[in-house]
Amino acid sequence: MKKIYLGLGSNLGDKKKNLDEALGRLQKQVKLLKLSSYYRTEPVGYKDQDWFLNLVAEGATELSPEALLAFCQGIERDMKRIKTVRFGPRVIDVDILLYEGFSSSEPELTVPHPRMKERAFVMAPLAEIAPNLLLDGQTASEIAAKLRGERVELAEGLAYEPDQRDFA
Ligand code: AMP
Repeated sequence: MKKIYLGLGSNLGDKKKNLDEALGRLQKQVKLLKLSSYYRTEPVGYKDQDWFLNLVAEGATELSPEALLAFCQGIERDMKRIKTVRFGPRVIDVDILLYEGFSSSEPELTVPHPRMKERAFVMAPLAEIAPNLLLDGQTASEIAAKLRGERVELAEGLAYEPDQRDFA
């Protein structure tokens, strides 16, 4: 099993339900070890859209990096992600942030995720569940503390509610 970190986000429809559905689907191939809180986050780039709901999950998987990407993309597709504008609205986005012992700069699979260190919507939840994780010699908390720009707010009172059908 390899340890992985995934970043999830939604800004269309019932965002909380979309994140929870994606977490349910992920568990077919990913053992979830830790979940961050849910965060309401200001969109990056294309501003004329609703705020996102984001979280980061720590997990373990037997899938290769390539198979994990295909699996995550299948979840996005099945949940009918509408891919119209780059950085635009989406039902669900699942990004591979980190994969134990693996790095790649291929455009179709760049790991560590190329923009994660600049994004408060990734670094705030990551720093919550893995504060001492080292990225290029700095901890996740140190990187998160220095980020300015898009607003990121802890969504108080939201927690993962598994759909019991996922485990039937
Ligand atoms: P986006 O629309 O921002 O989710 O980008 C999706 C594209 O990014 C897909 O074509 C993926 O092949 C590519 N990609 C590159 N690196 C990663 C990664 N670490 N996690 C997810 N998608 C990635």
